[in-house]
Amino acid sequence: MRIILLGPPGSGKGTQAQLLVQRYDIVQLSTGEMLRAAVAAGTPVGLKAKEIMASGGLVPDDVVVGIISDRIDQPDARNGFILDGFPRTVPQAEALDDLLKHKHLKLDAVIELRVNESALLNRVETRVAQMRERGEEVRVDDTPEVLSKRLASYRSQTEPLIHYYSERRKLSTIDGMMAIDEVTRAIHRQLLALGAVEPKTHARSAAKAAPAKTGAKKTKAAKTAKKAAKSTKKAARKATKQAVKGAKKPAKRAAKKVVKKTVKKAVKKGAKKTAKKVTKKRAKR
Ligand code: AMP
Repeated sequence: MRIILLGPPGSGKGTQAQLLVQRYDIVQLSTGEMLRAAVAAGTPVGLKAKEIMASGGLVPDDVVVGIISDRIDQPDARNGFILDGFPRTVPQAEALDDLLKHKHLKLDAVIELRVNESALLNRVETRVAQMRERGEEVRVDDTPEVLSKRLASYRSQTEPLIHYYSERRKLSTIDGMMAIDEVTRAIHRQLLALGAVEPKTHARSAAKAAPAKTGAKKTKAAKTAKKAAKSTKKAARKATKQAVKGAKKPAKRAAKKVVKKTVKKAVKKGAKKTAKKVTKKRAKR
């Protein structure tokens, strides 16, 4: 799955990206994070970006496009990725279209987190206060003054992307002012509706539990669920292979055992839950 998270600074893109990464086993590609790492390491890209970032401006398109293109080629991005903070301009979006086409990859969705701008300043102030309380280092561009500049650049340079992706029928807009888990659920529902993700554990348990516990006929839904479960298992097997690649034999065996056990447990739990639901429904009747 390949998606873009779009939204002004402070809209929760980073938080949502991290939650989605855990849920779908994909990687987060944040140009902001990559640039900060380059600045910290003092690389040529970092030296170029340092001042621009500190003042809230945008790093040149060719620099970020180059970083993203290289990153997409890494093996850990094969299963999918979330672009966070990229593209930020129409030329970047066009360059992304080109490079995805070149790499024979398809973009599944662009999720826009729509937020109330006046609430953003509050969010950033709270985040900075919490970080200071925890003794964490605060980003140099996380000040109200720089945020205003970042917001202005979002409005003039990034907001046109909403039109760009809406024209290409890729855009889904979600209310970013909801609670964090509600936003995550809304994104998940949207991805399900677009067919970008498959109904995993729930679907698998429904397929397993229905014929055994209720004697129900194999419905079309159950068949679809079984198919989804099969492909999930296939993906899990593939991921295990990747994870244990290069490990010594005993370590390989142990890792495989752990994955097998976890998958079994998840299937069992899901099946039990569905069976309970069905029994309850029948008792009601
Ligand atoms: P972020 O962490 O996404 O808020 O990014 C922090 C800063 O990095 C931005 O204010 C920009 O200076 C720079 N930056 C990150 N992504 C991009 C991008 N796609 N294009 C240009 N500059 C970027």
